Amino acid sequence: MKSDHLNNTTWDNSKIYSDLKDPKLLSDIENAKSTIGTLKTQCAPFAQWIEKMEEGITLPLDLLGKATENKRMALDLFTTLWSAKTYVYSELSTNALNETAKEVEGKLSALFDEFTLAVQPLNVFLTKAPESFVDDYLKDPRVSETHFQLRHQRKVEEFSLSLAEEKLASSLESSGLHAWGKLYNAICGSMKITLDGEEMGFAKASGLLRQGDRTKREAAYKAINKAWTTHQESAAAILNGINGQRLEMNKARSQKKELHYLDVSCHESRITRNTLNTLMETTYKKREIGHRALKAMAKLMDLKTLAPWDTLAPAPLKSSSNAIPLDEAITLISDAFSKLSPEMGEFAQMMHKNNWIDSLPTEARGPGAYCTKFASVREPRVFMTYTGTMGNVITLAHELGHAYHNWVMKDLPLTEASYSMTLAETASIFAETLVKKSLLEKCESREEKLNILWQDAESAAALLINIPTRFSFEESLVEARKERPQSSTEMKALMTQAWKKWYGDTVSEYDDMFWASKMHFSISSIGFYNYPYLFGYLFSLGIYGQKDKFDSTEEFNKLYLNILKDTGTMMAEDLIKKHLGQDIEQEQFWLDSLSIVEEQISAFEELL
Ligand SMILES: [Zn+2]
Repeated sequence: MKSDHLNNTTWDNSKIYSDLKDPKLLSDIENAKSTIGTLKTQCAPFAQWIEKMEEGITLPLDLLGKATENKRMALDLFTTLWSAKTYVYSELSTNALNETAKEVEGKLSALFDEFTLAVQPLNVFLTKAPESFVDDYLKDPRVSETHFQLRHQRKVEEFSLSLAEEKLASSLESSGLHAWGKLYNAICGSMKITLDGEEMGFAKASGLLRQGDRTKREAAYKAINKAWTTHQESAAAILNGINGQRLEMNKARSQKKELHYLDVSCHESRITRNTLNTLMETTYKKREIGHRALKAMAKLMDLKTLAPWDTLAPAPLKSSSNAIPLDEAITLISDAFSKLSPEMGEFAQMMHKNNWIDSLPTEARGPGAYCTKFASVREPRVFMTYTGTMGNVITLAHELGHAYHNWVMKDLPLTEASYSMTLAETASIFAETLVKKSLLEKCESREEKLNILWQDAESAAALLINIPTRFSFEESLVEARKERPQSSTEMKALMTQAWKKWYGDTVSEYDDMFWASKMHFSISSIGFYNYPYLFGYLFSLGIYGQKDKFDSTEEFNKLYLNILKDTGTMMAEDLIKKHLGQDIEQEQFWLDSLSIVEEQISAFEELL
């Protein structure tokens, strides 16, 4: 186990595989190949049953058993393949140059593609099968865990294509849609940015936007945008390619009724279009709160207005340069979690003790932070690069919030524990809130308080202004792409408009290269990747705001746990109706959450 002056740790995943040459990994891959072969043969006949069903021919009695048996086999195989993929990905995260890992990752991706195609006849059959068949099918305990997922999929059956078309669409994705995403990552990974004569990668240069020296931040920002300008034609081609393919698919699916691109996203997010509209409209109406956060941050920095390179900066305070060792951060987080429940506090300690966190800065390390889990053993893992800043502590709390969400669901069947991104970001931001509140209570000096309130302001500015900016840009890009591909110049104009709409005059300039430098727009597997963060932020504050309505913390904790456990089997609207009796399609729910943010910003302003 390696460590450094901040007592950083590397994770221990030996319970899954000893290393990339583990014979178990090789045999899992071999077994997967043969199971995929079996599934391919056994699921193929469902293709004919889809046609016969449409001709009105009665389904034979033994079809139910065959559907159940094959679905179970598919669910088990998925668990194995997913765990293997998580393992390989964890190796690549700590060393992006690991050639063996890249090779195994390639094999696993190909297997996943084959697997998807093999079971597609069964999956399409299940979305089109008569209600009575599905009722009986879901009664079988071997597949009953898929009840929400299947019913949710059946809601959009009218947009499904024929099996042959669905197969063609899936098989073209890896060399079309996802190839664009890979190209973006390849450009990112090989990009060289020169700063003060030093040549560095994109991840390292982006990291400089989060450090305290303003001159360095400005230089990093300008160098990043300059580097992206040299790649702007490729970056524009990527966004045109990704959005073009998605729009073509939606057009093809719109035979019975028009399929709107935001409906696709809402279905994935398990929220209604009404909820999304209310969320965005209410946030726009209250954008003043985000503006006040940006102005207060500028004031503490002694600036008239912030520049785009200041929005991720640490608080301009002397104390913020004192690095917090990892074990100390764990204690801070654990103490904060314990105030809600001792189990949650112990959980944070356990994650550290079990070496389930990888935080040690290593060469060729992947950027960002994430939480993942091994589906086979139902254990969470957290990845981040920890350098001891207050921002890092909050990020660690965020990822541990995700991990805790997985942990409380670990006894549920895997499908029932699979939630949408909107609800995932609820658990993580809830954890952040607990930690910030607890740290604030502990603060003795004005400076310490300012350091925490700065984090609140930065979150408010990021989530209430920057995230909606990304949403508005993407919306206008997709609309424009309907007409024709957009040039890099047009993308800059669309991005400028989006910044103007949300930031107004609260920044000194607009980041017109943001469409290229922000990876989120080029993620091929999911469109409109950003608003779930805003949703999670306000949704979790809405839940947190209920705290005082309960007689005891235990009761509130019970409510929180029950909400988490239902996240894999409910629409967000139903979840909140059931547990809080509130309606998230109505403005009031979001206004209540926004007023909590407003209180935080007022506290920051008062202290200035
Ligand atoms: Zn998250």
